[in-house]
Amino acid sequence: MTDVHTPEQRSYNMSRITGRDTKPEMLVRRVLHAAGFRYRLHVKDLPGKPDLVFPRARLVVFVHGCFWHMHRCKYGKPVPATNSDFWSQKRAGNAARDKSHRAALCAAGWKVAEIWECQTRDPSKLEAKVGEVMETLRASASERP
Ligand SMILES: [Zn+2]
Repeated sequence: MTDVHTPEQRSYNMSRITGRDTKPEMLVRRVLHAAGFRYRLHVKDLPGKPDLVFPRARLVVFVHGCFWHMHRCKYGKPVPATNSDFWSQKRAGNAARDKSHRAALCAAGWKVAEIWECQTRDPSKLEAKVGEVMETLRASASERP
């Protein structure tokens, strides 16, 4: 056992982190965890049951699927040909709930970050979005890793 992190392994790890088949939320969690941040998951007593919660920084992060939460991107737009009323109502309901959860959290003094599935598919966008979250966390000294 000499060097546990050869460059080849590092790029392998990175490709695992940004692998296309991985769930968007897991991608976000892995990047934050690897940077040393710790969080609570799916906190039920907060509006919308945020995916990641940083209590001391009073920051929550939602990782939204583009289709189900109607992101304004190419993944958020398509509507299934059958039962389109049912699905579009369901998606509109999700989007409306997201908005009211955001408002309730902000009113309670929480900062709310949203990361979209399409942003997690692009390694540079993922890095940029998670970077914003890390900056907010680092600004709160108590959450510093
Ligand atoms: Zn999207």
